[in-house]
Amino acid sequence: MTDAAILAEVTARRQDLIGLAQDLIRIPTLNPPGQHYRTICDYLAARLMASGFAVQFVRAVGAPGDCEAYPRWNLIARIDSGRGGDCVHFNSHHDVVEVGHGWTRDPFGGALDGDRIYGRGACDMKGGLAASVIAAEAFLAACPDWRGSIEISATADEESGGYGGVAYLAEQGHFAHVTHVIIPEPLHKDRICLGHRGVWWAEIETHGRIAHGSMPFLGDSAIRHMGAVLAEIEQRLYPLLASKHTAMPVVPEGARQSTLNINSIHGGAAEPEAGSTGLPAPCVADRCRIVIDRRFLIEEDLCQVKQEITDVLERVRQQRPSFSYEIKDLFEVQPVMTDRDAPIVRSTAAAIERVLATAADYVVSPGTYDQKHIDRIGRLKNCIAYGPGLLHLAHQPDEWVGVQDMEDSAKVMALVLQDLLGPPASA
Ligand SMILES: [Zn+2]
Repeated sequence: MTDAAILAEVTARRQDLIGLAQDLIRIPTLNPPGQHYRTICDYLAARLMASGFAVQFVRAVGAPGDCEAYPRWNLIARIDSGRGGDCVHFNSHHDVVEVGHGWTRDPFGGALDGDRIYGRGACDMKGGLAASVIAAEAFLAACPDWRGSIEISATADEESGGYGGVAYLAEQGHFAHVTHVIIPEPLHKDRICLGHRGVWWAEIETHGRIAHGSMPFLGDSAIRHMGAVLAEIEQRLYPLLASKHTAMPVVPEGARQSTLNINSIHGGAAEPEAGSTGLPAPCVADRCRIVIDRRFLIEEDLCQVKQEITDVLERVRQQRPSFSYEIKDLFEVQPVMTDRDAPIVRSTAAAIERVLATAADYVVSPGTYDQKHIDRIGRLKNCIAYGPGLLHLAHQPDEWVGVQDMEDSAKVMALVLQDLLGPPASA
């Protein structure tokens, strides 16, 4: 069997690919709160059963956000050749983020205009999901004597951490028999995403003592203490982070170092309610909190990352006798980076060269995605993100995915299936 036969099967499905992506976009799977998850799973189940897949619905009972109004439904579709071999798993999240402002298109219209399909989730990542379905169907049509098995999953809640989706499935052992994973996130059709940086979120609270605002010397301002913390971060920590560079090929390049975002700050009286015209009461703030979002590198150790923040706070304590603080871990994810020699990486790189006549680019994502759960809970290292769409369009108004990009990446995925599950060359 030649590349040409498989590529022709994908090309012949171009209209089907467009229609499938449009149908998926038209199901508004907004997260939060987690709407229409069952609807999109039912839609995909019907589609894939018609192509010979067996389907399983898995509700992540008890996962964050799961409730009767918004059940966390996941779909796993599987087709087995009946002949031994590897299992190739395509995992896409089916949830999308809120619409936001600034749209000139119907965010759930799935309009096709020239080469572009518009809508929330078009690039992140219903275009990629559609491409993986077409790739599998084209491969099965072109290669009846294939080996092993193919799985396509559509999972919940990636945009809110993946606990009702891939993390839940991994905990239930659904990746135990899987050999290769492709996550068709929008990293672009000629790039292989090997993994992502690590994450540590923490809340830091400074303590003070409340007093009348006209006599602040009788109190102790938690906001002034936090100001000292922020000054220390600004003067000492940011230069340190900027000096830490990584060998990870993170894109964009600005993320090829350690970064820290101060996500929020709250201190003193609560924000007045919308529409309130009253004046605030004069008080010295006795609490001030920030949430920090620290992204760390594969060369860094999480204990060391946390120690840097403790060092900042201890230095402030030395300068300010009444200073006291609390620090609370909110969330942590280890960095992951799949080896370039891993079978799924080599196979995808070769397929990109055959389809696009260009060498694959290797990248690492600045933020995390569901690979973290496949790596840590599923204990599977042979995993990449590869799919159509431009990452910078994700979560933006007028999000779109290119039809040609979807078709090309479907061709790449179909050739990966041929490489990993096709009959041996000698047959
Ligand atoms: Zn995504």
